[in-house]
Amino acid sequence: MQSNENYSKIKELIEKELNLPSPPAIAVKILNAVQQDEAALTALGDIIATDPALTAKMLKVANSGIFTCNGTITNINRAMSILGTNIIKNIALSFVIANELNDNVQTNFDFDRFWRGSVTSAVAAELLSRVLDCKNDDIFVTALLQDIGILVISLTKGDEYNTLLHEAHITDGDLLKLEKKKYGFSHQQVGYALLMSWNFPDIICDPVLYHHNPEKADDSYQSSAQTIYYAGQLAEIYTGDEGAEKARLIQQVLTEQFDVDEADAIELLDDVASRSGEMLESFELDPGEIKPYSVLLQEANKELAKLNISNEQMILELKEAKQKTETMANNLRDANNRLKELVYRDGLTGLYNHRFFQESLSNEISRASRYHSSVSLILFDIDNFKKVNDTYGHPAGDLVLMNIAKAVNQAVRPCDIVARYGGEEFAVILPETSAAGVKVFAARLRRCVEGIATLVDGQLIYVTVSAGATTFDQSCDGITKGMLIEAADRGLYASKQNGRNQVTVQEPERSTV
Ligand code: GH3
Ligand code: MG
Ligand code: MG
Repeated sequence: MQSNENYSKIKELIEKELNLPSPPAIAVKILNAVQQDEAALTALGDIIATDPALTAKMLKVANSGIFTCNGTITNINRAMSILGTNIIKNIALSFVIANELNDNVQTNFDFDRFWRGSVTSAVAAELLSRVLDCKNDDIFVTALLQDIGILVISLTKGDEYNTLLHEAHITDGDLLKLEKKKYGFSHQQVGYALLMSWNFPDIICDPVLYHHNPEKADDSYQSSAQTIYYAGQLAEIYTGDEGAEKARLIQQVLTEQFDVDEADAIELLDDVASRSGEMLESFELDPGEIKPYSVLLQEANKELAKLNISNEQMILELKEAKQKTETMANNLRDANNRLKELVYRDGLTGLYNHRFFQESLSNEISRASRYHSSVSLILFDIDNFKKVNDTYGHPAGDLVLMNIAKAVNQAVRPCDIVARYGGEEFAVILPETSAAGVKVFAARLRRCVEGIATLVDGQLIYVTVSAGATTFDQSCDGITKGMLIEAADRGLYASKQNGRNQVTVQEPERSTV
């Protein structure tokens, strides 16, 4: 692939634009050592042994179970004979490079996150290659270094490139396209150029060059390119956001594209989580909280359940709020009604007061005009009431007023309105009542009051009333409320003048003024 003509142009561009870091000395030695087949075993062992920290990490990984399943490996030579020179070389290279290219540059690049993702991806690739039955000794380091180009671009371009990474991340955009548009090359080409310049073998370099488009790789490297790509995706479950959602997608790819059965797919995802934790510690990276896929799934389901619960809760709260609003509206209506009663009722007798009388009479006159019907009005006044007060006292007078109010209220129809017009003067509005009708009713009212006895101090008090009555009917065009009241009042005055305890009917008159 490296002989590709297009690629040499891109390589030129990369070398012009970026400072490709030189390889760590120990990495060069390791790579050289494994190329000298015969002496490889001892040479590699000796090189690693020069770095005790590296040796300790290597043994830890060798025993972690990711590369081997049984036995305890206590020294590098034994590790090499059990796991093979190639795997030991790869583990060593992984440590050396991760150690070299880490956090020594002033930039916002999140080295920790980068290496966490790379190590997890390496673990995923190793496990995935076994499940897919395409075991490849180099897959761990290949996956680990697949995105090394991102690191290299960021080392030269700094925050300009970090912003582009962020943009690709938040929009879920195509990083390769964004890179090509901005620089003319992609991170997979940069990674390839770097590893080639470090003399890494094609089996590692080529899958890195094509990990986003494995179909373009040489046949022999396609499955590796594909494996490290999906390993990278798989790692994102544990290092990025929306883990459960990504996990579902990967699980789908595994079952549908690679024919891995569902239980194995879930086991693989869980394995990646548990093995990555150990591996990250070996790389001195904070493993953070890597949750197994099954736990992620459980949490996602819980979240879903919570959403459903909160939905039900919301409906319940809405219902309660509606009920509260209805109750409040009812209370308000009751309060308003009580207030109206207070405003429109007379305190002593409980009859409607003067204000209500005035409003009602206006309404009834309008209604009568509108429907060409009639409304009658009676005003009546207690005769010689002053004398009652004077003789029996004011409270006795009050009792008389109350008794009369009660009796009159009982005598009228429900649609009639009885009001206390003033002191000892009352009014009755009789809707739909003609002049003939009111004459009869007023007479009955007079007789009714005449018969009411109020018991005070063992004595019965009787009073009489004088009344004036009038009617508004179809002939009353232009007659106002004031004119109607004046007519009733005129009748009342006439009754008093004529000796009291009687009813006088008067027709309303248009006042000349
Ligand atoms: P007339 O037959 O001409 O109507 O004589 P009258 O004594 O009834 O008329 P007048 O206007 O001289 O007196 C009305 C009396 O009614 C005076 C007043 O003290 C009394 N009165 C008015 N309101 C009340 C009340 O609420 N309670 C009591 N006990 N008396 C009242
Ligand atoms: Mg009076
Ligand atoms: Mg009076």
